[in-house]
Amino acid sequence: MYLFKQKDDLERLLSTARKQGKRIGFVPTMGALHQGHLSLIAAAKENSDLVVCSIFVNPTQFNDPADFEKYPITIDQDIQLLTAAGNDVLFLPSVQEMYPKGLAPEMHYEFGPLETVLEGAHRPGHFQGVGQVVHKLLSLVAPDKLFMGQKDFQQCLIINRLIKLLDLKVELVICPTLRETDGLAMSSRNLRLNPTERQNALHISRALNYIKDHVHTAPLQALSDQGIHQLTDHGFEVDYLEMVSILPDGNISFPDTPGNDPLYAVVAARENSSGVRLIDNMQVN
Ligand code: AMP
Repeated sequence: MYLFKQKDDLERLLSTARKQGKRIGFVPTMGALHQGHLSLIAAAKENSDLVVCSIFVNPTQFNDPADFEKYPITIDQDIQLLTAAGNDVLFLPSVQEMYPKGLAPEMHYEFGPLETVLEGAHRPGHFQGVGQVVHKLLSLVAPDKLFMGQKDFQQCLIINRLIKLLDLKVELVICPTLRETDGLAMSSRNLRLNPTERQNALHISRALNYIKDHVHTAPLQALSDQGIHQLTDHGFEVDYLEMVSILPDGNISFPDTPGNDPLYAVVAARENSSGVRLIDNMQVN
């Protein structure tokens, strides 16, 4: 596996690969890699000739400085996992390399109402930061396909919109959420949970499964209220638990009753004893 820390070195290799007609697949991550990340690498390998993974803990998307400071870093293990997974290129830039002009936004992305609901409402500035870094990475890597996880439900919609806003030719491939055998969605932040907190975190996927099992037996609002109660009863602070669908224009709707469109239960909650904020979602119809 090639490891590049400088944009120029990465660009040189990619330009040669492109001249050879290689199709480039790209998997951006923040590291502390787990099987969920590796499933994206596997999907990229199946659908591209050259797979680039980036590891960059992007400071501009953290609205909470403590969350940024505590973000797990396991770079040696990440390199081993990527090598074993057959990843071709790892891009591991510094903050200076990604933001040579400083962290102030260079432009504002018009994400519209997508940016003001759910994660957007609870993490001010988060999606502008995500847009900023993904824009930089896509300009640099110019992949044919971009692989992202359904785990970050709203992020997928934001990136889809970013691709349209910037009129990029890249295809966004959304991969399913990988879970631990007990149902907990894999997440780098799970590393910050001790065994008791890790056990408690299971209530998130349980609440989503409960909603899925009862989606045709109770009004959606009642179901999300029940899900919220299940979580607060176990010491979670719930930012939101909502039932949503995706509109044809890529915005999010909040239906009162299940229709024909896929319906998702989406949740963000802080496990109180650890202070770790976890997100998850599940299609429930
Ligand atoms: P992150 O390192 O958390 O920024 O995630 C990098 C990419 O991996 C994003 O596209 C995530 O949606 C995806 N991802 C994170 N967790 C999972 C998971 N459990 N299953 C599948 N993809 C995931």
